[in-house]
Order: sequence, then C-alpha cells, then structure tokens
Amino acid sequence: MRGVSTKPSPGPNQERLKRVRHVVLDMDGTIYLGGRLFAETLPFLATLGELGISWDFLTNNNSKSRADYVESLGLMGIVLEAEQVVMSTDACVATLLGDFPEVRRIFVLGTSGMKKDIGDAGFEVVAEDECDAVVVGYDTSLNYHHLCRAAYWIGQGKPYLATHPDLVCPTEMETILPDCGAICALLESATGRKPDQVSGKPNPAILEAVMNRRGLTAGEVVMVGDRIYTDMLMAREAGVLGALTLTGEATREEVIDPASAPDLIINDLGELEALLRSTRSTPL
Ligand SMILES: [Mg+2]
Repeated sequence: MRGVSTKPSPGPNQERLKRVRHVVLDMDGTIYLGGRLFAETLPFLATLGELGISWDFLTNNNSKSRADYVESLGLMGIVLEAEQVVMSTDACVATLLGDFPEVRRIFVLGTSGMKKDIGDAGFEVVAEDECDAVVVGYDTSLNYHHLCRAAYWIGQGKPYLATHPDLVCPTEMETILPDCGAICALLESATGRKPDQVSGKPNPAILEAVMNRRGLTAGEVVMVGDRIYTDMLMAREAGVLGALTLTGEATREEVIDPASAPDLIINDLGELEALLRSTRSTPL
C-alpha cells in the first residue's frame, strides 16, 4: 500500500538510479495483474513525466496486437504512443530483417493481431502458399490445420523462429495457458526441430533494440519486472539496472541466491517512484 512502508533506501544503486533517463516496464505482474491495474501504476508514470524520465512497456505476450494494447491500456487511463509498446514480435521482426534478409513470405502460427503486426512490418503473411519462413508466437487461436501447416514447412527446412520462450502464460484463473514455448515443444516432437532463433525476454536483444532506438546507454535505463529468469536475467545480460517488483510472480524468498539476485528489489512501483525522487532531490 502506498505511503505506509518505511522510507526506501537506494543503497549502492544511488548513483545508477540518479543517471536513469528511461524506464522499461514489464506488464503483467508489474503494472497490473489479471487486467487489474495496480494503484501505484498511474502515479508512478505521472512522476516519471514530472522527472523527465521516458518509459516503454515490454511484453513477450503477442496474443494481442500493438493496437490492442494501446486501446486496452488507454481504457485503464494510460495514454501512450504505439511505439511505447515493445513486443516479442518486434524482436523477432528485427531478427528476420537482420539475419534472414531473403525472407518475405511468412507462415505465422499466431493470432490475427500478431499477423497484423508482422504484416505492418512489411512482410507478406501467407496461409496456404509456400512460405520463406515460419514464425511461432503465443497463438491463443491455435487450430489443428494451422499447426499441421507450420509443422510441414518446418519439416521442409524453412527458417523457423519463435517469438519468445515462455512455456505458459501466467493466469489467476483455474486453467493452464500453454504459451509459445509449449507450442514449439509440440512442433519439436512432430518435426525434430527446435526454433533457429528465440526472440523476446530473456534474450537481451529486445532491450538493446529499445536502447538503440532511443539513443540510450545501458547505464541510463532501469528494467522493472516480476520474473527473475526473464526480466531480471535480460537486464543483467544487457548491463541494465534490474528492479524486481514483488507484485507478480517472484517472492523475496526466491532471491536469496546472490548469483541471480537482481540489483534492486521493490515491493511495488510506488517504492521505485520514491527512490527515483530521492536520488533527484538529495545531493550526492
Ligand atoms: Mg510479468
């Protein structure tokens, strides 16, 4: 709850926090949980604006399109530009453009929203015709015929990319939501192939792309997320300050291993808000 915790101390990260010009935020478990926005989120974003700190959201979940996210976040009161939603699809597109320049026609095993984002990036999304590559995402519209077509082209040796490695999507509902990694495991059973590339968190390329686009150095960015093995691992590998929030998956008990400990552990975004404010109001 805001305002009742003891005053946080930035500790040894004070210098790094003082240099922060940009915040990259995971979404589920960080700004909201199960579609319910945390009370700290809007005040946190307002304070970033006040302090002149820019921000992006970064998610592996590409079951929705970028436009879908902009709309649903807007309904929660978050006003943002479309480019502030960074998705695993973007990292995969960057890999296609950089490492597979001959690829134009793509078979997408993904939702209509994901197909739209790949089409908007300049590729032709094909359904039945021969493709140059197969891209697999979090396909919540998974259909057996599409699965068979993806397996066939993978079996034919086409470049095969996965947008992210997540096996399941977190949910509070009484169900399990198999995610991109689980779909790829099925395809591996059927074809014997693993993806040639896996984009998205914890691959640091997605965070490095954000820094390149915005002209930022690693020392000017903080990555906030609720998963140690994706958000915090990616931050560490990109040389970016990692702030683990306890509002989602990770608990304080899980981070006793110093080898994988994040730079900062915060109870919620309100605590990071107070830390950022304190590093700007206190002379070092
Ligand atoms: Mg999360």
